[in-house]
Amino acid sequence: MIILVVVGIVPITLFKYGILNNYETQAIVRRVEEIRSQCRVITEQLIESDYMSGSRPEVVETLISQLGSIYSGRVVILNENLKIIKDSYSLDEGKIIVASEVIRCFTGAEGEDYHFADDFLEVTVPVVDNASRSTVGVMIISVPTEDIHDSKEALSFTVFILQVILIFIVLIISFFASRMLVKPFRKITAAFEGMQGTILEEEIEMPDYTETEQLAAAYNRMLNRLRVQEDSRQEFVSNVSHELKTPLTSMKVLADSLIEQAKVGEVPNELYQEFMVDIAEEIDRENSIITDLLSLVKLDRRAADLHIEETNINHLIELILKRLHPIASKRGIELVLESFKPVIAEVDQTKLTLALSNLIENGIKYNKDNGWVHVSLNVDNTFFYVTVADSGMGIPEEAQDHIFERFYRVDKSHSKEIGGTGLGLAITSSAILMHHGAIRVYSKEGEGSTFTVRIPLKYAPRQDEAEVIE
Ligand code: ADP
Repeated sequence: MIILVVVGIVPITLFKYGILNNYETQAIVRRVEEIRSQCRVITEQLIESDYMSGSRPEVVETLISQLGSIYSGRVVILNENLKIIKDSYSLDEGKIIVASEVIRCFTGAEGEDYHFADDFLEVTVPVVDNASRSTVGVMIISVPTEDIHDSKEALSFTVFILQVILIFIVLIISFFASRMLVKPFRKITAAFEGMQGTILEEEIEMPDYTETEQLAAAYNRMLNRLRVQEDSRQEFVSNVSHELKTPLTSMKVLADSLIEQAKVGEVPNELYQEFMVDIAEEIDRENSIITDLLSLVKLDRRAADLHIEETNINHLIELILKRLHPIASKRGIELVLESFKPVIAEVDQTKLTLALSNLIENGIKYNKDNGWVHVSLNVDNTFFYVTVADSGMGIPEEAQDHIFERFYRVDKSHSKEIGGTGLGLAITSSAILMHHGAIRVYSKEGEGSTFTVRIPLKYAPRQDEAEVIE
C-alpha cells in the first residue's frame, strides 16, 4: 500500500509544482513581449520626433503616459549620458542612472528583470537611431506583476483542491488494490501454516496471477516430495523395527525353551551349548544390522559431509581385496583384480571403500564354493569404472530393480542363512550417488552377476548440494 500511495501521490505533487511554475513563467514571458512591442513603437516615435534632443511633441508624451497607465507602471527614458530625460512619475528627471542593465542596453541588448519577491517587472529597451545605427538612449519600464501573482495563487488553490481529491482517490484505490494483491499470498501463508506437524494438507490452487500459479505449483511439488519422504520414512522405520525384532524374537524363543526344559528336568549340557551358539549368532546378526543402519544413516546426511581427497583407486581396491581374501579363501573362491591403468581420482575414501567392499562381499557371499570374483578397474578422460563380476547364483530379472532398496533381499530365508541384512546395496548406491556416479547390474539367474560402477575422476559439487541425497 505504501508503494502504491508513493507512486500515486509523488507524481501528483510534482505535477502541481510543474503546472504552477510553468504558468508563472509563461505569464511573465507574455507580459515582457507585450511591453517590448509597445516600447518599440514608442522608441521609433522618440527618434522620429527628435525627442532625445529635447523636443516634446504632444503625441509622444501621450503615448508614454498611456503606456504607463495601461500597465500601472513607471516609464523612464535616459539619454546617451545616462541622464533621465523623462520620468512618467516626474520624480527623478535630470538624475543619472548607472545600472548594469542600462549599460548592457547601450550595446543594443534588450533585457528584463523579474523581481519575484517585490512583485514587479523591469524591461529595458534601447532607443536605436536607424540612420546612424547607434543607441542613443534607453527606455526603462517598471510594471507591477501583482495580477500574475494573484492568478497564480488562484490557480494554486484550484490545483490544491484537485490534488487533495486525487490523493483521496489514490488512497482508496491503493487500499483496495493492495488488499486484492496480497490476497493470494495470505492463502499461501495459511497453507504453509496448516502444514505444521506431519499432516500434509491438501494441495493448493491459485490461478490469480502467473506468479502465484508458479508459487502454488512449486508448493505442491514440495508437498509431494514431503509426502514421498514421509512415506519412505515410515516404511523405513517399520522395516527397521521389524528387522531388529527378528533376532530378538529368535533369542527369546531359544531362551524360553531352555527355561521351560529346565523346569521339567535337567537340561543336557550339549543342548545348552547348541542354544547358546544359536543365540550368539542372532546377536551377531543384530549387530550387523545395527552397523549397516549406522552406515546408511551417515550416508543420508548432507553431501557436505564428504571428505574428498585425491586417491589412488588401484591401491584402495587392493586393500579391500586383501581384507576380504580370508573370507573368500575359506570357500575356495578366487579373487582377481584386473587393473588396466593407474587411476587417481577425487573421492571420499571411507565411503567408496564401503561401497566397493559391499559389492565384492556380495560377490563372495552369493557365490558357489570354488567360484570366482573378478574385479576390474578402467579409466577414460572423465570417469573411472569398477566392475565386479562373480560366478554366483545370479539375480532374477524381476528382482534386479529392487536390490538397491533398503532391506530388500531376493530370497529371505537363503540370505538369512548367508547373513545379509538387505542394506548393503542401499549403502553402496547412496555412496556412489554422493560421488555423482552411477551403478548398474547385469545378471542372469544361475549364471552369476556383474555390477558396474562409474564415478567421475574430479568431484564437482552441484548447485543443489545442500539438499539431502535421497
Ligand atoms: P544383503 O545384506 O542381504 O546382501 P544387499 O543389499 O547387499 O543385502 O543385497 C540385496 C539382495 O540382492 C541380496 O539379499 C541378494 O539376494 C541380492 N544380491 C546382491 N548381490 C548379489 C550377487 N552378487 N549375486 C546374487 N545376488 C545378489
